[in-house]
Amino acid sequence: MKALVYGGPNKKSLEDRPKPVIAAPTDVIVRVTRTTICGTDLHILKGDVATCQPGRILGHEGVGVVETIGPAITAFKPGDHVLVSCISSCGRCEYCRRAMFSHCITGGWILGNTIDGMQAEFVRIPHADTSLYHIPPGLDEASLVMLSDILPTGFECGVLNGRVQPGSTVVIVGAGPVGLAALLTAKFYTPALIIMVDRDKNRLKISKRLGADITVNNSGGKAAEAIMPVTGGRGADTVIEAVGIPATFSLCQDVVAPGGIIANVGVHGLKVDLHLERLWMQNISITTRLVDTVSTPLLIKTVQSGKISPAVLITHHFKLDQMIEAYDTFASAATTKALKVVIEM
Ligand SMILES: [Zn+2]
Ligand SMILES: [Zn+2]
Repeated sequence: MKALVYGGPNKKSLEDRPKPVIAAPTDVIVRVTRTTICGTDLHILKGDVATCQPGRILGHEGVGVVETIGPAITAFKPGDHVLVSCISSCGRCEYCRRAMFSHCITGGWILGNTIDGMQAEFVRIPHADTSLYHIPPGLDEASLVMLSDILPTGFECGVLNGRVQPGSTVVIVGAGPVGLAALLTAKFYTPALIIMVDRDKNRLKISKRLGADITVNNSGGKAAEAIMPVTGGRGADTVIEAVGIPATFSLCQDVVAPGGIIANVGVHGLKVDLHLERLWMQNISITTRLVDTVSTPLLIKTVQSGKISPAVLITHHFKLDQMIEAYDTFASAATTKALKVVIEM
């Protein structure tokens, strides 16, 4: 089968690899029909993710059809259309019993990281009974690719951890796919004001189209000066960090209101400064989280009922043999205007 293989920092190739086989009774082999590329895959390619070793097939997001099942599988059968979660969970360990699937002792984020992933014609899914979801008939499967990671990440790490409330004020720093997913799902709670911050004009334009009340271009580094007046000088109740660099985490600390929450979503590669000399008396909270994908069933229902349309995040379509071009397009988002690229098999 064809697969996109990580070859070490800045090296990737489309290779012929053997088709995966059932290795444990709880495994399922899925024939991948659609996958995508994540910002995390670009981090891996930079050499930032030490757990992902050369030779690994990348990818942790996608949909497909069940090909074969292990003898212990009860919830799925060959032919079932399934959504693959970026998080594998055994459902039984201490962390899974606390719904912290991202920290599952034998699972968590392993797909396309410590085991072969989804950017291939077939993938082996461990703990499949508790890591796959049935796709209801009639749903647009390309848009469901957004539910493997992006939507639950924006929702759980940003909106739920940030406790967005009716009538509250929300600042989302970063209008990439995850920031936009936070925007789409923040609207479930009807906040009074959603302010999107980015340095990319096109992404801010899309934010506006997807329902942001105000967009702030931070290319001059002065976003706080634009945000404070429109929040009555108080700042925002929920500040969602969806970039992952010191400057954006610093901005979050500048615009969080007393009693507010900074919900970190961004993947940080560098240490950041925490301004406790200002914040110690502001009653704020800071949350961090790796997505648990506990909200996946709920999100599938909101897509099914038309309450959200994650397909708006898809900008490009490719075939598997165009995988390298798909990576180049996704990695040059400023010029290609790419958000999510969907790769069809
Ligand atoms: Zn991802
Ligand atoms: Zn577990």
